[in-house]
Formats: sequence, C-alpha cells, structure tokens
Amino acid sequence: QSLTDDVEPGAAPIPLPQSDERRWSDTSAYTRKKILQSWVQLPNGNWELGKILSTSEEESVVSLPEGKVIKVISETLVPANPDILDGVDDLMQLSYLNEPSVLYNLNYRYNHDMIYTKAGPVLVAVNPFKEVPLYGNRFIEAYRKKTNESPHVYAIADTAIREMIRDEVNQSIIISGESGAGKTETAKIAMQYLAALGGGSGIEYEILKTNPILEAFGNAKTLRNDNSSRFGKLIEIHFSETGKISGAQVQTFLLEKSRVVQCAEGERSYHIFYQLCAGASPALREKLNLTSAQDYKYLGQSNCYSINGVDDAERFHSVKEALDIVHVSKEDQESVFAMLAAVLWLGNVSFTVIDNENHVEPVADESLSTVAKLIGCNINELKLSLSKRNMRVGKDTIVQKLTLPQAIDARDALAKSVYSCLFDWLVEQINKSLAVGKRRTGRSISILDIYGFESFDKNSFEQFCINYANERLQQHFNRHLFKLEQEEYIQDGIDWTRVDFEDNQDCLSLFEKKPLGLLSLLDEESTFPNGTDLTLANKLKQHLHSNSCFRGDREKLFTVVHYAGEVTYDTTGFLEKNRDLLHLDSIQLLSSCSCHLPQSFASSMLIQSEKPVVGPLYKAGGADSQRLSVATKFKGQLFQLMQRLGNTTPHFIRCIKPNNVQSPGVYEQGLVLQQLRCCGVLEVVRISRSGFPTRMSHQKFARRYGFLLVENIADKDPLSVSVAILHQFNILPEMYQVGYTKLFFRTGQIGVLEDTRNRT
Ligand code: ATP
Ligand code: MG
Repeated sequence: QSLTDDVEPGAAPIPLPQSDERRWSDTSAYTRKKILQSWVQLPNGNWELGKILSTSEEESVVSLPEGKVIKVISETLVPANPDILDGVDDLMQLSYLNEPSVLYNLNYRYNHDMIYTKAGPVLVAVNPFKEVPLYGNRFIEAYRKKTNESPHVYAIADTAIREMIRDEVNQSIIISGESGAGKTETAKIAMQYLAALGGGSGIEYEILKTNPILEAFGNAKTLRNDNSSRFGKLIEIHFSETGKISGAQVQTFLLEKSRVVQCAEGERSYHIFYQLCAGASPALREKLNLTSAQDYKYLGQSNCYSINGVDDAERFHSVKEALDIVHVSKEDQESVFAMLAAVLWLGNVSFTVIDNENHVEPVADESLSTVAKLIGCNINELKLSLSKRNMRVGKDTIVQKLTLPQAIDARDALAKSVYSCLFDWLVEQINKSLAVGKRRTGRSISILDIYGFESFDKNSFEQFCINYANERLQQHFNRHLFKLEQEEYIQDGIDWTRVDFEDNQDCLSLFEKKPLGLLSLLDEESTFPNGTDLTLANKLKQHLHSNSCFRGDREKLFTVVHYAGEVTYDTTGFLEKNRDLLHLDSIQLLSSCSCHLPQSFASSMLIQSEKPVVGPLYKAGGADSQRLSVATKFKGQLFQLMQRLGNTTPHFIRCIKPNNVQSPGVYEQGLVLQQLRCCGVLEVVRISRSGFPTRMSHQKFARRYGFLLVENIADKDPLSVSVAILHQFNILPEMYQVGYTKLFFRTGQIGVLEDTRNRT
C-alpha cells in the first residue's frame, strides 16, 4: 500500500489567515466596524496611533494621542492591532501585519530593552547602542534549559546546535544588516553561547580571542560605526560527535586595503596602528623607532586619532594577550609590529625631483632608513624600487623612471600590500592554532558576519563589490525562505497559495552575465592598456543601457537598481582597484629582505599571481594578464561561500540600526522601515504565517516519536504511526499537512512532541 493512499494530500484545505490587510481599503466592511484604532500617517511620514471615533466609506474621524481630532480619508488608514498584542515577541502573532504595526511592535520592545524579535523564522535584532541586561552565564543557562524562551541570539545558537546534532546537518548563522547595525556584536554573542555549550577543551577561548585580533587589524572607525568591520568573515566552528567544540576555521573576504593609505575626514585607519602607537612599551618604541600617531602622514590626513570611550593603549595589551592565546610567538608578534611601523614610516617617505623631466626619487631621510631597517632590506634597493620600474615590453625589459604621482602610487601600493599580506598571514596563524581537533567529524556551525548593503553619496569599487555580495546573500535568503519553501510544498502535494516575493535574479545577472555583465566588462576594460575609468563607464552604458537594473548617468557614473535600493557608482579608481597591480620590483624587494615576514609576503604574492608581471601589467596582454582581477577573485570567493552555505541549514539574523547617531533610545521610524523593507521581513512573516516551516519525513517522524505511542504499533507503516502520533497528541488538523513524503507543521507545533520526548 502506498503511503499516499489512506491520507489524501491536501484533503483538508487550510484556511489562510485573513488578517494581512495592509490598508484600510483591503479590510472588509464588517471588520472595519470592529476596528477601534488605526494608524494615521503624518505629513512627516511617521505613523501615529489614532482612535477611530466614526468611519464611513470616504472619511473617518480619528483622535490622536495628544488629543487632536482629525478627519482623514478612510482609504489612507491602516488597521492597528488591539493593545493586547503590544510587543508580541513574534511578528507572526500580529493580527494585522502591516508596516506601521511592525514598526510599532519593534519600537515597543526596543523601549523595554527587548531588542530581539522573531519575524517567523528570522531573528530581528535592533541595536540598543547601550548595554542591555540580556547576556552572560545566567541567560546562557536559561536558554540552555529552555526556561527563557524569548527571542534571542542565544536561542538561535541553541537551535543550531540541537539541529546539527539531531539532523546531522551542518548549520550556518547568517547575520546581515547595514554598517553599525550590530552584526559583529551579534556574531560574538552567538560565539559566546556556542563556546559555553560546546566548551571544555579550552579551544573555545582561542576561538573567542580571534575577535579582538581580527577587530584590531580589520576594523576601523568610520562615520557610521566606531568599530566598523572592513572585511567579511566566516568562522566555521567544528564539533565532535558529543557536541563539543573541536576546532575552528576563519575565512575572510575582501579587506578594504585603501584605508591603509587614505581615509575620509573624521574616520580612522585600522585600530591596530593607533593601538601600537599608544600602547607600545618604551623598548618596543625604541626598536621600531616609533613615535606618536600624529607623526604619521597615513594617520594624520583624516584628522581623527581617538575614539570616544576607547583606550587604545589598553586595547593594545588585550591584542597582545589574544595573540599569545592563539600561539603567535613573541618573536612573531614583534615582527608583526615591525611591519606595522614600516607601513607607517613608508607613508612618511617623501620624494624630490631629480631631473628636468620631473622624475623623482625618495628623500634619504629617517623615514626611508627606518623602513629599510624594519623590513630588513638594503636602503638603496628600497630607494630604487620607489623611483624606478622595470617594465617588460615584448621580450625586453626596460627601466622607467617614475614621476611624482607614479612614485606615490608605488609607495602606497607597497604599503597596502604589506598590510593586506600581514592580515592574511595573521588569519593563517589563527587557523593553524584553531585546527587542533585533527579528527574532524564534519559537523560544524558557521557564522557569517559580512558587510551589509552600502549606499553613500559617493560609491566606489568597494561598495560595488560589497553590494554585489549582498545581492548574492539576499538570493540565498530568498531561495531558502521563499522559493525552495514553496517548491517543496508543491512537490509534496500540499495545498498551497503562492506568496510573491522580490526575486533579485535580474540584478545578479546584471553583475555576472558573460560576456556582457558588469564584472566581465570591468575585467575586460582592466586588461586594456588604454582603458580608463571613463572608457569603462562608457562601455557599461553602451552594453547595458537596456538592462532594467542598470542606468547610465553622466560622465563616470552609473546606477544599479539593487534589491535594497538604487545605488549610483562612480567609476573613478575602478580599474586601478580591480587590477590591483603589484609591481614586480616590490615583490623582488620584499623577497630580498632579511626578515621572514616580508619574505613570506613576497612568496604569497607570487602564488597569488601566476605571472607576476609588472608595469603596465596588462599592456603586454595575453599570457601576462593572468593575474586574477580583484572582482573575479571576489566572485570566486562568493561562489565558494554560497556553495558552503548551500550545504547547511541556515539561521538568519537581521540586524537593524535604529538611528544614525549611534545613540541609545532613539528610534527613527523611517530608517527602520527602510531596513525592514530591504530585507523583506514582512514578506517572510507573511509566508511563514501561511506556511508550514517545520517538516519531517514520515519515517523519521515515526522513528523519533513512535515510542511515545500508547497503542501497539509494531507492525504499522510509518505513515500510520505518524498519524496515530498526531492524534494522540491532539495536534489540530489546521496545524499540519500530510504530504507524499513528509509531514508539514506550522511553527512551534513540533515543540510539544520534542518536549515530551525529552522528558521521557
Ligand atoms: P559594520 O558593518 O560597520 O561592521 P556592524 O553591523 O558589525 O557594523 P557592530 O560593530 O556590531 O556593527 O555594532 C556597532 C556598535 O553598536 C557596537 O560597537 C556597539 O556599541 C553597539 N551594539 C551592537 N549590538 C549591540 C548589543 N547587542 N548590545 C550593546 N551594544 C551593541
Ligand atoms: Mg562589523
């Protein structure tokens, strides 16, 4: 007998909740009469809660909180929820799911320090910008024992662990949100919970200590966030069969290198530079010829040296301790600091004109000699590498003297690559230290903290890459929560009404299509010797003008219609940043150094570029241009990331920034709404509310809960067992559906069974 014979799939159609009205006009006349309060939009765009005094088809009379009574067009009213639903901890529970109700609910909770709210399967976290009493051992215990069930990062981490063990599937926690929304803090809170539950071997301390190190070297103060991550990070935490942490691995994405040599007014370079300048011991200072941050040009240009409430010297000591813990030897630490000092001194190297063709060479001053000493090279070779360039033209090599802008470029390129190699080297050391659990069980929980969507007044190559990454992640989110979900219902024969969602495939195609997509065209132009930022912009406009996600703008500008809004990019610097030229001279210089770090940097640069050619690297064309462009490398990393995440059960956390001033207690409706819209929170709630997010095969369900049955089931098939269980536990018919292969449950239904099972 086939499984589907005795229970017809979709036999009992489920009435979908009828309360998703977004506007008054969608509400039935009958319901309207019963609604006592409703949302009124004020001229400034904010929503206010009004009591309805009288209503007709055309007009309604509403009294506002401060006693004002106004007449409004009935159509513009949006139904509000009864007070009893104030601050519900899952947006799914709202009777009326509309934007003002969601905004209000989050605001209500935020005012009561309840910064976490569920939006169906997604956790929404509103940044409190202050310490909230929600963390620490007492809370961890409560979530572990399930005595506290309010939404929390801990609860997400707990579910991840349980599902990893129960389903034997790797898990991922995907954290997204704008800059300053709280992603990095959230990632740390999740790690804290995993460390507490999976700790024991001691490796968890090392894992936690990767945070201060990576933040020191990869975070900086920006106008949006005093501790902004300038790289993306995936940390994969490995577990043993017994659920104990056995090791971890960190992968980083696209560090913003340009910050090392320049940053905007009011922002800072990477924290570690200031920490070193403030916290180095006198002996170390002497060794590195280190002075104060103010003396270094790279740090001085943005006119910002300190961060409110942050003691850089103290942080320096924490970073050193953390380095100890992840087994970076004292000697290596000193080499790391020497590299940092070298970068700082490099920025102070100045040039002087040496002939009447405006060629320059570096001034032989303290900066130059200190750099040479710190990296361990011959001062003349350093001088040469900053004033001349070996170029390959055909088979010949010619030597080109540099003009001032070229020399500055060469100097800055060297500083940037030394820093980014140092960052990669540190990640490698961390990974060596965390790879202790040799016996890999293959079980893991990955936490992704990656830069959120960015849209500024001026958007450059960095925003272009970041926003591309966000399109990919958004698709993962959509695919998981909407597409696959719905496809699965249909496949399993479940009665189901489709919910529409914004698909961003068109925008992704705009980036990825070959040969006429943004990335391909960018790469192509990068290989052209005469390519400039303007020719790039023109080329994009020429080939993409008919794409609905693309719009050409004046001169070097173009606009992309992202899922999260339109962003206008300025191609200035695109080609140079994408080519990321490394002059052979610089690599040669580093490999000639007597210190081991620069040497290892040189070899990793050589590995990165198959054919490390210089000069107009791309001029020679053909075989010489094999070095991967930055965009292509990033795209490869992203594909790999998506593949990895594709094999995991994802848990999504959406961080929301309630204000742009990084202050507690300030909740700007417009700002929050825009972020909620960006990430499709309402749609997720809508689909979850009408859907069946929990599912289990008949076999698995019967195996897992069959023993709870009071009647004898020894000879029954899985489906009959499953149905018997559902009956015995009085699971209401509208709370589940029986598919061809699986049982589908509405949110929370399986919890009862799971609890009973755990108690038994
Ligand atoms: P970016 O994309 O720039 O890296 P982000 O999303 O990682 O931003 P965070 O650095 O995590 O943002 O958070 C910014 C600041 O907000 C933190 O430095 C902290 O002051 C505050 N913050 C975030 N989450 C919390 C929290 N749960 N409790 C208290 N403060 C928080
Ligand atoms: Mg961050």
